[in-house]
Amino acid sequence: MKYCIRCGSTILDEAVICPYCGCAQGTQKREGTNGMAIAGFVCSFLIPLLGLIFGGIGLKTANKTGNGRGLSIAGIIISIFSMAVYFIMLLVIMFA
Ligand SMILES: [Zn+2]
Repeated sequence: MKYCIRCGSTILDEAVICPYCGCAQGTQKREGTNGMAIAGFVCSFLIPLLGLIFGGIGLKTANKTGNGRGLSIAGIIISIFSMAVYFIMLLVIMFA
């Protein structure tokens, strides 16, 4: 049993429309996880450039589906941070 999202009546789990108020039950079907956002987040630590690309695509997807927005942004920020760290390390190695 579940409850109608509008009137709160007890309705069947599989009910699409509430028999009491006729309100369509928003099937809270999640659009799946945002794979690009996850890829961007993971790559941001290892391959920042890929992390930035995947994070960007993930963010675009997130704007459409609403999934993985935070993860995409985190991936982009970490990518930029990682790139800065790698760049500084490169400079240190070259000029040390
Ligand atoms: Zn109802």
